[in-house]
Amino acid sequence: MKKYTITAVLGDGIGPEVIGSAIECINAVSKKNNISITWEKKIAGEEAITEYNSVLPIETLNSIKKNKVALKGPITTPLGNGFRSVNVELRKKLGLFANIRPAKNIQGVQSKFSNVDLIVIRENTEDLYGGIEFRENSISSRRLIQFAEHESKINIQRGSAIALKTISNTATKRIAEFAFSYAQKKQRKKITIIHKSNILKYTDGLFVRESEKVAKNFTSILCDNMVVDNACSKLVTKPELFDIILCPNLYGDILSDLCSGLVGGLGLSPSANIGNTISIFEPVHGSAPKHAGMNDVNPSAAILSGVMLLNHLGENAAAKSLEDAVFSVLKDKKCVTYDIDPKNPASTSDMTMAIIKKIKK
Ligand code: NAD
Repeated sequence: MKKYTITAVLGDGIGPEVIGSAIECINAVSKKNNISITWEKKIAGEEAITEYNSVLPIETLNSIKKNKVALKGPITTPLGNGFRSVNVELRKKLGLFANIRPAKNIQGVQSKFSNVDLIVIRENTEDLYGGIEFRENSISSRRLIQFAEHESKINIQRGSAIALKTISNTATKRIAEFAFSYAQKKQRKKITIIHKSNILKYTDGLFVRESEKVAKNFTSILCDNMVVDNACSKLVTKPELFDIILCPNLYGDILSDLCSGLVGGLGLSPSANIGNTISIFEPVHGSAPKHAGMNDVNPSAAILSGVMLLNHLGENAAAKSLEDAVFSVLKDKKCVTYDIDPKNPASTSDMTMAIIKKIKK
């Protein structure tokens, strides 16, 4: 029997419901595949502030570092003010440089298109999401304004808040090499680099240039590039043009939510955050506070994140069996949540049970 210890961070809002469902499903499929998983439950986010006075307690971080693999629920990050994103912290502190977000049509799920099968690969540590931001009228933002005006000879409105967009050679090469190797391994045909290098000539310009350099070492994979605004328009009219999308952090976050909308919504979209030694799997969706505790949201995104986790562990048979069970329940449409069947919605727990019943081996 193969044994694993995995960190589970249930998260805020609907996190405990959907991650709870995913754990039940993974346990069920593990039992049938001679796998034993011990879940080390740790906290982060709102709950952790009360208990540890920190959104990301060292105990949680250490557990993930030790186990190398985690299943994580969404964490609420207050809008505008309050604490900074736990996700940004986690990705930076654990070196989770690649974010993989697949979007593929699922039989039985109504969507505007029937030919979507793409994967967004997003650089996860830099760009405007690097967390380097200065409040308006702070000493730091005033100093930065002075410095930037002096260097650029362009006036900046006094009292502006400032965020820095940083794109490095090293991080771009790392994500591009990851994306092209991933494409090769998954027998994908094309990578489209998404950017805004017509305006952001140095930052996005560097991202395109370094990625295209890496592309030259992978001659079996086509490589093109597209400006992000054009990509948005093409994605909602001709999504079949895309195979793998490679992009900096911010565009990747936005485009992957857009892509999940192409195939039936956030309730179905899983993701993986991959580093050199540590990986965290989580649904793309957030904590949806209005639905918290209502037992009504779709657990599929969290369960399919569990499928990605099992594949990552090399437990491909168990992963396939769990994925088939989720797809089968979605196809039957007899026991699915409100986002899939608004007229006759099932609860999160009933849909979870229906999936568990479908697990063959
Ligand atoms: P959200 O993804 O939480 O919810 C947006 C809407 O999508 C919901 O109102 C709901 O209608 C739908 N939805 C989401 N998940 C669903 C599911 N499983 N089944 C069915 N419908 C689902 O986005 P938001 O409201 O913008 O964000 C809420 C909070 O989550 C914010 O604090 C945000 O910062 C945080 N967030 C966290 C993560 C993360 O931890 N990875 C990701 C995104 C947002």
